[in-house]
Amino acid sequence: MTYDFDLFVIGAGSGGVRAARFSADYGARVAVAESRYLGGTCVNVGCVPKKLLVYGAHFGEDFEQATGFGWSTEKTQFDWATLIANKNREIERLNGIYRKLLLNSGVTLLEGHARLTDAHHVEVNGQRYSAERILIATGGWPQIPDIPGREHAITSNEAFFLDKLPNRVLVVGGGYIAVEFAGIFNGLGSNTRLLYRGEMFLRGFDQSVRAHLAEELTKKGVQLNFKTDIVRIDKQQDGSLLATLGDGSRLEADGIFYATGRRPMIDNLGLENTFVEINDAGYISVDENFETREPSILALGDVIGGVQLTPVATAEGTAIARRLYNPEQYRPVDYRHIPTAVFSQPSIGTVGLTQEQAISEGHKVTVFESRFRPMKLTLTESSEKTLMKLVVDARTDRVLGAHMVGPDAGEIIQGLAIALKAGATKRLFDETIGVHPTSAEEFVTLRTPVSD
Ligand code: FAD
Ligand code: NDP
Repeated sequence: MTYDFDLFVIGAGSGGVRAARFSADYGARVAVAESRYLGGTCVNVGCVPKKLLVYGAHFGEDFEQATGFGWSTEKTQFDWATLIANKNREIERLNGIYRKLLLNSGVTLLEGHARLTDAHHVEVNGQRYSAERILIATGGWPQIPDIPGREHAITSNEAFFLDKLPNRVLVVGGGYIAVEFAGIFNGLGSNTRLLYRGEMFLRGFDQSVRAHLAEELTKKGVQLNFKTDIVRIDKQQDGSLLATLGDGSRLEADGIFYATGRRPMIDNLGLENTFVEINDAGYISVDENFETREPSILALGDVIGGVQLTPVATAEGTAIARRLYNPEQYRPVDYRHIPTAVFSQPSIGTVGLTQEQAISEGHKVTVFESRFRPMKLTLTESSEKTLMKLVVDARTDRVLGAHMVGPDAGEIIQGLAIALKAGATKRLFDETIGVHPTSAEEFVTLRTPVSD
């Protein structure tokens, strides 16, 4: 049987674009359908605009600190509308680049919602296309708990396009997005309070990192309320919002921002016309080759509910394209040692095992930790401290985890991720000559263990 395409990709986000481009470059006939925006979540309402807002939010502190270096900064002023307009222009530029990348690779781009009609057919804008294989790369969508008044709350999707920066904002959640946006709102001048239902936010991160960030955010003026949840939201006559908490107390705000996780985007995808299976958490089930129960249909990225990061989705896209159309270059995705950064203020960088994970996996660990005031802040009033931590296997001397809270943590941890992947020992770290004077050199000069 001949098909219109060898591969039909649904979703032009991080993973879909990678799989489509590489497959087309390897000679496959490829189509991509995209219903919303080229580049997907990361480019439009995720990593990219988020990082631009984080940069924007940092200037407040930078201006303050500049006075310690002799600069007199006249009265500074921030204009949200300018930041959003400039951000939008940059995103449009990136949308154009994604379009060119796809078209230059010979991919057929179909702009519209795609729906599966069976194991080999997809419908877009009333037109039916056949494909030997179909790749579902439809990503995720923010979810807000089902409480009365939830329609008054916003998520990251809306926050990037607000007309006005809220004066008082409640951030609900304790994951990546909550702490990143708490930093953005606070840095740009909103009175910011973060509400998290558990004992300590950033579940799954190293305990020292979580506690250190909590301290630093508090110093910067973010109010942290743990073991707290909102049970209802009411809109008041003056347009402000009233949040009622679980203990009956109330908080007023001009904006309530929910970052309580994301669900897979499978709305009206036509999965019922196929044998594709959904797991208990609602994500599409795949095997190690990203194949669903329907052999001709594959899935990757956020919609399969693994590690929800752009470089992971692109790695999965690469693996799929190579396995199908360029097998000599195929290597399975290695999910160990995935480095990650949280662009909070200060930022977190982490790779490998946390102290808690290492212990629960049966390692006897030696821990090295350092807290210090970064050199750049010594001439300023800031009391911000940087944290660096290594978790080492006491028996083999292998470094199991590296964790940092401080400026440029993501930039620093990327290099350490290579060392950890290569199986570096603490001795190798010690024998590595530092770059002076930097914060990063602390990772090769940690001498005294804090505990065994
Ligand atoms: P997506 O990028 O979400 O792409 C899915 C695409 O499919 C979308 O364009 C969507 O419109 C389209 N689509 C859906 N259904 C259909 C349909 N039926 N027909 C046609 N098209 C459809 N990750 C990082 O690594 N670093 C970060 O700093 C980072 N920051 C983030 C900040 C925020 C606020 C958020 C929300 C996420 C962030 N992420 C970050 C996560 C990252 O964005 C995702 O892991 C990544 O985008 C997942 O890629 P994907 O290809 O699976 O899906
Ligand atoms: P996360 O899954 O990271 O965090 C969700 C948070 O919401 C958790 O603290 C969770 O609490 C809490 N929560 C979940 N349900 C409820 C509820 N019903 N009521 C109250 N609180 C609730 O999701 P995010 O939305 O922050 O981000 C989604 C994913 O996107 C991240 O996991 C990450 O993979 C990716 N991302 C990556 C970034 C980066 O690389 N810098 C930045 C932003 C996003 P609990 O811990 O108790 O379950």
